[in-house]
Amino acid sequence: MSRDSAVDVDGATQVVGVIGWPVKHSLSPPMHNAALRAIGLNWVYVAFEVHPEGIAEAMAGLRGLAIRGLNVTIPHKAAVVPHLDEISPVSRTLGVVNTIDNVDGHLSGDSTDGPGFMRALAEAGEGVTENRVVLIGAGGSARAVALAVAEDAPAELVIVNRTPQRAIELAELVKQAADFEAVRAVGLDSPELAEVVTAAHVIIDSTPVGMYPDVDVAPVISPAWLRSCQLVCDLTYNPRDTVLLRAAREAGARVLDGTGMLVHQGAIAFERWTGQDAPVEVMRLALLEALDDFSRSPDH
Ligand code: NAP
Repeated sequence: MSRDSAVDVDGATQVVGVIGWPVKHSLSPPMHNAALRAIGLNWVYVAFEVHPEGIAEAMAGLRGLAIRGLNVTIPHKAAVVPHLDEISPVSRTLGVVNTIDNVDGHLSGDSTDGPGFMRALAEAGEGVTENRVVLIGAGGSARAVALAVAEDAPAELVIVNRTPQRAIELAELVKQAADFEAVRAVGLDSPELAEVVTAAHVIIDSTPVGMYPDVDVAPVISPAWLRSCQLVCDLTYNPRDTVLLRAAREAGARVLDGTGMLVHQGAIAFERWTGQDAPVEVMRLALLEALDDFSRSPDH
């Protein structure tokens, strides 16, 4: 991996970054620094490891040091909310933010995961409008994606989860927040699951099943239910080629891995901070290079 900083840091360099715990394996610094370099901004993007008990101090530091913006990752996405001056409607619904914009000490928060997923889908030449969509999982990423999918009026959105109650709650949230009625919940062990999955146009796996280091587990749904007319998406990006995507490809289906969503959620944050179009291909290349470095490194 190149160890170049984004710029030759000088007295005018502006700082953006990410807070998380732990954060040292974050792929955001290489992705954003490549983008900052590409458009020649005198900015640098750094990772801040913030202990969960240190959130109030970190947010005061963000204002006090005039850090221009932050991405927020696990476990801080909900904890930062009380420290912000303003949050977007989608963040209010979800109760989390992944992006903070600091304009002269005024902190506004947003969640760019859902729109990031929708941009990745569009990039793959797909949409959900009038299509049947199955979303597996009801955790943080599923909540963001479910709201974004519902905004685009699919024929039906079926939320499938290991803990059925969480799927029911997410379906209710979607009904109320997106004013969308064609949503229902199904348990992962429900007898109707085979039929539901087989009938779907777009299948989205938002579980960590198949994520590093447990890459050789069984996929979260049976490969026998997949069809060549489907698009199968996995939000997991490490590895890119998950056990589910391999099964989908074998069934002749099209696939979308999690790197597109990761690039685009970052691109939306980048655009918010800098006011400039994000160099998406530069970000993608840097992300893929960092993922390759990660998989080759013995230090993880
Ligand atoms: P999360 O909030 O912990 O939610 C995990 C979900 O997966 C829950 O619904 C959980 O079900 C389900 N689940 C976990 N283990 C399972 C298993 N063995 N079998 C069946 N279901 C299982 O996680 P998250 O933050 O949404 O992240 C999930 C995945 O998305 C991760 O791989 C993460 O890297 C990826 N992600 C990608 C992006 C991107 O930009 N591409 C962004 C965010 C997340 P229960 O409710 O029953 O526990």
